[in-house]
Amino acid sequence: MKALCWHGKNDIRYETVPDPRIEDPRDAIINVSSCAICGSDLHLFHHFIPAMESGDVVGHEFMGEVMEVGAETRDLKVGDRVVVPFTITCGDCEQCRRGNFSLCERSNRNKALADKVFGHAGAGLFGYSHLTGGYAGGQAEYVRVPFADNTHVKVPDSLTDEQVLFLGDIFPTGWQAAVQCDIEPTDTVVVWGAGPVGQFCVRSAVLLGAEQVVAIDNVPERLAMAEAGGAIALNFDEESVLARLQELTQGKGPEKCIDAVGLESHVPRSIDSVYDRFKQAMMLENDRAHVLREMIYVCRPGGILSIPGVYGGLIDKVPMGPLMNKGLTVRTGQTHVKRWTDELLSLIDDGQIDPSFVVTHSAGLEQGPDMYNTFRDKQDGCVKVVLKP
Ligand code: NAD
Ligand code: ZN
Ligand code: ZN
Repeated sequence: MKALCWHGKNDIRYETVPDPRIEDPRDAIINVSSCAICGSDLHLFHHFIPAMESGDVVGHEFMGEVMEVGAETRDLKVGDRVVVPFTITCGDCEQCRRGNFSLCERSNRNKALADKVFGHAGAGLFGYSHLTGGYAGGQAEYVRVPFADNTHVKVPDSLTDEQVLFLGDIFPTGWQAAVQCDIEPTDTVVVWGAGPVGQFCVRSAVLLGAEQVVAIDNVPERLAMAEAGGAIALNFDEESVLARLQELTQGKGPEKCIDAVGLESHVPRSIDSVYDRFKQAMMLENDRAHVLREMIYVCRPGGILSIPGVYGGLIDKVPMGPLMNKGLTVRTGQTHVKRWTDELLSLIDDGQIDPSFVVTHSAGLEQGPDMYNTFRDKQDGCVKVVLKP
């Protein structure tokens, strides 16, 4: 089959690889109809995440039709149309029984290695590092889905691929980030990053009834999309984030802050006096604003920091002093996708949200390598790329 394969930093190739096959009686094979490129794939593209191997098939946002099922698969049959959550979920371990699906204790077959390298392993993930199981991804014609009875969401034929595809990752990710903010009707929710995840954070915070939602980025098209979704746009190249957030909250700071940027939050800023004080206070050693520190600095005491943005290793120097003394709550993690999908599928079905708003680029899978560049560089108004194998 054809697939997109990782070969190193900035090197994704469209290649022929062996077809996947059933390896365990709980597996299914999916014939992929649509897949997408995620900001998390950019961490592989930048090679920020270790333990990738040359030739690994990438991609963790995909959907399609069930082609084959293993002998112990009860809930799926050939021909079912499914979206596949990016977190592989056994459904039966202690964490899965609590609904903490991204912490599944069984689906990461390289758990021992990950525990050793990172101190903790989460669930198995498709198309990601060998520290998350080294499973082949879904930017491919076909993909093997382990624990298939629990790792799927059935979707009706009445909805298009673009309307349901994002149930596998970025819609529940934005939703979980907003739910974790415990939004009150008087709250200001600020979302750092207006990429695909930030867009769903904005729409979710609006749906959950925040008084004011602010989106921060420096890409005009992304800010315009967030504005269309009900947010106030804040371009950090044009104005001081701290001053504007103070102004929007009568000097008190936002109650709820969401980091939808993650590892890549090292963006140069122009310096102004507020920012200078902030730099001093937070001991930033260069002119780059780190989203986590900015959130801790600006959040109202007693507020909540919700962090869907992905981090890895020990590169983040988080200032515990202000975090502790402001009494902030931090909520983070990979998304427990299946915890939210029934609710979100009903929102789509009821017409309360149409997730296809985020798609700016569609292309054949063979154009995947170019599309990685377009998405990374935010060229041509790119917010979200859907690929068709
Ligand atoms: P993306 O890279 O397309 O978007 C990130 C956005 O942040 C960009 O638009 C960029 O311009 C902006 N940005 C960069 N620095 C900034 C700063 N200092 N302040 C404000 N904005 C800044 O990625 P995405 O697909 O939207 O994903 C966002 C993050 O969410 C990534 O870290 C991704 O790995 C993570 N993610 C997490 C989960 C989860 O389960 N927790 C799931 C999916 C994605
Ligand atoms: Zn993703
Ligand atoms: Zn489990």
